Amino acid sequence: PRLTRADLDVLPSYVPGRSPADLARELGLPEAIKLASNEVPYGPLPGVVAAVTEAATSAHRYPDMGVVALREALAEQYAVDAERIATGCGSVALADHLVRATCMPGDELLYSWRSFEAYPIIAATNGATSVRVSNDGGHGHDLTAMAAAMTDRTRMVLVCNPNNPTGTAVHRAELERFLDVVPDDVLVVIDEAYREFVTDPEVPDGLSYRDRPNVAVLRTLSKAWGLAGLRIGFLVAQPEVAAAIRKVVTPFSASVAAQAGALAALTQADEVRRRCALVVAERGRVTEAIRKLVPDVPTSQANFVWLPLGDQAVEFGRACESRGVIVRPFPGDGVRVTIGTPAENDAFLAAAEAALG
Ligand code: PMP
Repeated sequence: PRLTRADLDVLPSYVPGRSPADLARELGLPEAIKLASNEVPYGPLPGVVAAVTEAATSAHRYPDMGVVALREALAEQYAVDAERIATGCGSVALADHLVRATCMPGDELLYSWRSFEAYPIIAATNGATSVRVSNDGGHGHDLTAMAAAMTDRTRMVLVCNPNNPTGTAVHRAELERFLDVVPDDVLVVIDEAYREFVTDPEVPDGLSYRDRPNVAVLRTLSKAWGLAGLRIGFLVAQPEVAAAIRKVVTPFSASVAAQAGALAALTQADEVRRRCALVVAERGRVTEAIRKLVPDVPTSQANFVWLPLGDQAVEFGRACESRGVIVRPFPGDGVRVTIGTPAENDAFLAAAEAALG
């Protein structure tokens, strides 16, 4: 007899990509370069390792389940009441909890596609129905088509801004037009995992909509804040929504180490801005160089670039790996390449030139 749900058999897996250690061994190289998961390459922020080490002395105790100190620090950093904040084991967990808190089986979760690969998974595992609206010709969200795709069953809409994996971002005017037509009983979740890398002033800060009753904003400390391995993300929403999420969250999912590391990281906002500026400068350089090989690379507002290579995506990914660079191919569609250090980016550009030049 089967013990697990039959519908999970057809669910796509979240693919983490290859391990750099395995690839380095296979190629006989001292190390491989990983440009596949949109991490920032500069190591933990100053003070984080010491804070986590210190916190480890209480590893035998449960963490603060209310995450009070960290929520207060986030509240101060982002000028919002702590009661409007919920934390999770990465923002991907919060996205999952939001579906759990809004959708009954058969209710609809609406999002643009292609977007973050976790969205279809969290919809399906929570019994919600995915409604996908195709990206527009420029690889970005088509908010007009998304508004038209809403039905009586739509309970939640995900707007990934900037969008993973294409790097595109919706502008203030179009987002506001969209927010104005979404019914009050539909939660609009603006997923801003890459907010800190945005340079286009037309791209709105989702937190500027925090007083709209049906808007929630997802942020993460995994990217610009350099804490991907500690797993902490947060949500800003109306107090009732934040409280509902704190109810459905897996108990103690913000570990002792994650809370301590996040508190230390949040004191380093200036260093985060400095690092983001380095990433943004490299993003410009990589975009310009790669467009000589792949002309229709969209302008990115995130810490990665999207190469719409279609059927060549998998082959291009393999060619980069054979030169020691791990990128993220999406079969039949394109390849996402994270911006790394200047030397890592040079290695990627050399691999791309060898593959396509
Ligand atoms: N949202 C988007 C758009 C992402 O790209 C990611 C990470 N790939 C996440 C959320 C989740 O990040 P984390 O769980 O590490 O906070």
